[in-house]
Amino acid sequence: MIHRGTHQIGGVATEVRTASTRIIIDMGSELSMEENYVPASLSVSGVTDTNGRCDAVLFTHNHGDHVGELMRIREGIPLYMGVLAREILLAVTKDTDAMLKKRIMQANRFTAGRPLVIGDMVITPYSVDHSACDSYMFLIEADGKRILHTGDFRMHGFRGQALPKMLDKLIGKVDVLITEGTMLSRDDDEPMTERALQQRARLYLKQYKYVFVYCATTNLERICALSKAVPRGKYFLCDTYQAKLLSLIEKHWGRYSPLYRNIKRTTYDDERMARFRKRGGMMMVRDNPMFRRIISAVDREHSIILYSMWDGYRTRDGSTIPAFLSLAGRWAPLHTSGHASVRALRTVIEKTNPKCIIPIHTDRPDGLCLVCPNKKVAVVQDKEVVEI
Ligand SMILES: [Zn+2]
Ligand SMILES: [Zn+2]
Repeated sequence: MIHRGTHQIGGVATEVRTASTRIIIDMGSELSMEENYVPASLSVSGVTDTNGRCDAVLFTHNHGDHVGELMRIREGIPLYMGVLAREILLAVTKDTDAMLKKRIMQANRFTAGRPLVIGDMVITPYSVDHSACDSYMFLIEADGKRILHTGDFRMHGFRGQALPKMLDKLIGKVDVLITEGTMLSRDDDEPMTERALQQRARLYLKQYKYVFVYCATTNLERICALSKAVPRGKYFLCDTYQAKLLSLIEKHWGRYSPLYRNIKRTTYDDERMARFRKRGGMMMVRDNPMFRRIISAVDREHSIILYSMWDGYRTRDGSTIPAFLSLAGRWAPLHTSGHASVRALRTVIEKTNPKCIIPIHTDRPDGLCLVCPNKKVAVVQDKEVVEI
């Protein structure tokens, strides 16, 4: 059963149950695109109240539209998340939010490829590429059936090409595919790869002395790539908060790839800022008074802000982003989606050959019928039970 997310992007929660076991995958907050929209809180019996049992809540990754309602989960229900995802979530949670910190600390950690046995279900997490690092698909095996829940994923990131091999070698055929469909309502051009985006950043660094980047602080693989784009002799500056997040990816993933090792992450003080003004380089920024002051203080002619987030945040009513972007001499978009393109969706469908596909995390679920016209696509409603 999909509790929420059958007809919206984000706010997802999916239930899978057998006669004796019941699990929930993700408990996310609704994404609010309109200025005064108040996200609705999600109630799931036995999970947000005591009317029933729940054996576990598993999180695919740590974006708010997947973990945002974590505190509504009744205490005592075991939580599961990736090792690095948990560390990042702890780091971005404010110290004043002690209760949330405590719950995150209590969460169990899982490892890619290592099955979890929960009641009569065997659940195997598989690492996937997404704009939140440490994201997972879950293969759920129970009652002789196999379900693959994709979470948010893509194939055009640095690790995206591992997906087809993983589907072939490790996952194979499934009975039901529950897949994200974010891009079904967005344009269907093949998105730019993260590698091409890094290349573009290199060009901007040649063209502009001061390159400021406005990017989500948790889009860590992109920020690693941007830092590697900075040539020798130039600075890659960020604040201590961003540096702390980068040190987490280096600590946990540094051994897997040079992309996550030896990341330039100079934090700044007055002296370094003076040298940055002299030599130039790249700086990660957010919209706050301190960064506004820093951007306004450099030579406008030679500065650019690269906007490295989804354009919807910039264009929505009441957004302060356009004013922020106007602080530099020029701004330019430098972004690519964290979500599965049509080609990526087709790849997963072909490789897993499901008998039935349930689209979630989309505002155009019926769009999936066009992607795979010969497949059974079940466009379900929130809270509708699907028997397998
Ligand atoms: Zn999401
Ligand atoms: Zn996500």
